[in-house]
Amino acid sequence: MPIKCSRCGSADGEIYIDYIRQYLCIECFNKFFEGRVKKTIDKYRMLSRGDYVAVGLSGGKDSAALLTVLKKLYPDKKYIAIHLHHGIYEYSEDSYVKARELAESLDVEFHVFRYEDELGVTIPDIKATRYGRKICSTCGFIRRWALAKASRMLGVDILATGHNLDDTLEVMLSSFISGDYESIYRLRPVLPPLPPNNYWKVKPLINTPEYEVLLYVSFNRIPIKSLNCPFGDDARSIRRKEILRIWSEREPMVKFQLFSSFTKKFIPLLDKVYNEDHGEVRICRLCGGPSLSDICSTCRKIQYVKKVGVRG
Ligand SMILES: [Zn+2]
Ligand SMILES: [Zn+2]
Repeated sequence: MPIKCSRCGSADGEIYIDYIRQYLCIECFNKFFEGRVKKTIDKYRMLSRGDYVAVGLSGGKDSAALLTVLKKLYPDKKYIAIHLHHGIYEYSEDSYVKARELAESLDVEFHVFRYEDELGVTIPDIKATRYGRKICSTCGFIRRWALAKASRMLGVDILATGHNLDDTLEVMLSSFISGDYESIYRLRPVLPPLPPNNYWKVKPLINTPEYEVLLYVSFNRIPIKSLNCPFGDDARSIRRKEILRIWSEREPMVKFQLFSSFTKKFIPLLDKVYNEDHGEVRICRLCGGPSLSDICSTCRKIQYVKKVGVRG
């Protein structure tokens, strides 16, 4: 006899959630998953900042789950999916096809930001330069920059991204180790507009464990990319997530505890330091984004890659 769902008692329990000590059927799991996202959105007033919502849709599981849940829970908002096309051969094509398929199936407008056209260089071009050694972190900078540029151009009120609980804690731990408190500060669930960017950044999956995102996507047959990036995933980040996984096997609540003390205790402290002094924020004369000098650091990187002329 299969174990029955702890909530409805009628369907088979498909999955055991250790930190609530319950077996859930697919339907009850969906409710559980979506309920937590809704609670997070309401608690941090993520969607009360406007009606035009962009979702960074990469083709990966997190953003795919996010767009699906948002559209289901808040059907009255106006959504646009922003897909960044990195130009990484079949990998990018696969991601693009899956992202577009999902947007179309949800009847959400699909906006493609092609690095080839918008930057004049692709990630493989950058990989061939001195930034190639740390391509995952450079790719991350450019991703943030590109999402900002696209959101600015589209004039959205809110940019929602799919960062999950494990992503957040992993960056938190590594930033702690390197003493990079400013990066930790950026991990907040909601980031207010930083002029000239006129939109809020929100992370509705910020307290959803990565494993549950994967389950949600597979239970609901949501299309996601099937290839891995040929430049490899960041090995250190995978290792740190592995440590978190082992830790939470011993203490099922630990990830939630870390997140809770982060938002309740640590953020208010950092608020005092960072909120008062933004420094002088200028506007990059190339991309129009926020910058500390005449040209922002990402535009300078892109200029460099063009100058060394890897394309010959
Ligand atoms: Zn059930
Ligand atoms: Zn710039």
